[in-house]
Amino acid sequence: MNQQTLVLVKPDGLKKSLTGNVLTRLSETKLEIVAAKIAKVSRKLAEEHYEQMKDKPFFEELVKYIRGELHERRKVMAMVYWGEEAIVKVRELAGATNPEEADPVSIRGAYGRITTRGIYENVIHTSKNAEEAEREIKLWFEPDDIILDLYPTKQVVIKDKKIRIWA
Ligand code: GDP
Ligand code: MG
Repeated sequence: MNQQTLVLVKPDGLKKSLTGNVLTRLSETKLEIVAAKIAKVSRKLAEEHYEQMKDKPFFEELVKYIRGELHERRKVMAMVYWGEEAIVKVRELAGATNPEEADPVSIRGAYGRITTRGIYENVIHTSKNAEEAEREIKLWFEPDDIILDLYPTKQVVIKDKKIRIWA
């Protein structure tokens, strides 16, 4: 079954120049990239992205981490991968959440670490199931940012909305 999944190269991945390595590893899957961008992560986006973790003791650090406050890299690379069994294929390549427990040849096993402050720097995020993928893709991307129609859309006319255009 074709599926879509969100992949984020987290700020530690960007700081360590791992984008190329991550994309190369993910290309083994033969999945297609159907959306990609570099995004600045607002506090609101970070908190919404990790909303299921909000009661964890490390939530505040996690928000700082994904916003790049720990790596002087205020950005992440966000992508949507699409194709046969995309969710499990990318999760397997990513490896376990704890980078010390992850398979050493997985992305997190090869490139992740636990910092002395106890933060799991695990290089990438990837959705764990179809519901999570839908919620996350809709959070990170607008319909027109994605080259496939992944979810139903509707047309609205937004009146008096200020947007920026090229001068
Ligand atoms: P994932 O889906 O494999 O990324 O794992 P989760 O959804 O459970 O957790 C989200 C993120 O929170 C992980 O990728 C880690 O960056 C972080 N995290 C999860 N569990 C822990 C933990 O026990 N300690 C710390 N410090 N961070 C954690
Ligand atoms: Mg998760």
